[in-house]
Amino acid sequence: MKHKKYQITCPYCDSPALFRPASMVHGSSVLEKGRYLYICSRWPACDSYVAAHKKGKRPMGTLANKELRHKRMLAHRALEELQQSMHMEKWAVYLWLQGHLHLNEEQAHIGLFSEQMCEQVISLCRQLIRTSTGTTA
Ligand SMILES: [Zn+2]
Repeated sequence: MKHKKYQITCPYCDSPALFRPASMVHGSSVLEKGRYLYICSRWPACDSYVAAHKKGKRPMGTLANKELRHKRMLAHRALEELQQSMHMEKWAVYLWLQGHLHLNEEQAHIGLFSEQMCEQVISLCRQLIRTSTGTTA
């Protein structure tokens, strides 16, 4: 199969993103082998990138700066906590998320979320965990 070329632009500075090995940003470690990122062409002046899927090179979302990357990481973690404490399947967690944020399947990816949406995810998860573990009849 032919790989589609993904042309994405940095949302912070409007520069094109480049498909580069993750070691360019994270340093060469064994863990990063075979991993790729879309990195803003102005990096490191513009600290913005997003991981690529191993298969098909598709970007996992939109480019994110340090703060947004951190927020997305926290949102992922909140969903994992929810999944574990509620004994939910991953798909069920995302279905729940879609319903609460009024998103379709295509839109319900943390990689596409803004900082605000990540915060919403985190507080939704906390609420649900709190109500389910707090008051049991
Ligand atoms: Zn940039």
